[in-house]
Amino acid sequence: MNSETFVTLNFHKSPDGLVPAVIQDAETGKVLMVGYMNQEAYDKTVAENIVTFFSRSKQRLWTKGETSNNFLHVKEILVDCDGDTLLIKTNPAGPTCHTGADTCFNETNQGRGQFLNYLQAIIHDRKVNPSEKSYTTTLFNRGVNKIAQKVGEEAVELVIEAKDDNDDLFKGEAADLLFHFLVLLEQKNMALDDIIAVLQSRHQKQ
Ligand code: AMP
Ligand code: ZN
Ligand code: ZN
Ligand code: ZN
Repeated sequence: MNSETFVTLNFHKSPDGLVPAVIQDAETGKVLMVGYMNQEAYDKTVAENIVTFFSRSKQRLWTKGETSNNFLHVKEILVDCDGDTLLIKTNPAGPTCHTGADTCFNETNQGRGQFLNYLQAIIHDRKVNPSEKSYTTTLFNRGVNKIAQKVGEEAVELVIEAKDDNDDLFKGEAADLLFHFLVLLEQKNMALDDIIAVLQSRHQKQ
């Protein structure tokens, strides 16, 4: 766990000795839930790398997942600017809300970035299980040169839309480009993650 505490956490700004802890999914960025911690709950969380709150309704330490096993595994703990709020990045073992929803705000715990991986899996499926009705399959049937040409065409269309100020048309062309780019990657047997790895390695050099 990486806990860079530049500001000292102060449990006594509030008379009940509690600080709010915003629980975020470390991968998707979604807010999973908000709970409260006293010093003891915080120390236990840091010691075990699993989130323990002080439950105001139970009036005791409450390890999220103690009965459901849907524990919140801690990746990183951040303290806010004035030391009275925690942001805890976690990997949840299951749905966080007791209603069974992914988050207490009834959101699905899937980031927009993850949708690209999902789309990539569908594109892969269209290659290995060709379907007559599928546009993606027809692209694969035409081969790498045609697919690469299509990426070029969509890039040109995006350039053209960039000169206007119709945001919807621009977004549509950006989506076309991204889709055909994913098809080209698949044709080259590459995954989006391979490209992200290159970007990350460049980023680390700076
Ligand atoms: P768990 O900690 O997941 O084993 O759940 C134990 C109990 O804590 C549940 O029966 C609920 O009363 C309560 N609870 C669980 N998850 C939440 C949550 N996200 N927000 C508020 N209460 C919860
Ligand atoms: Zn604050
Ligand atoms: Zn809930
Ligand atoms: Zn287009």
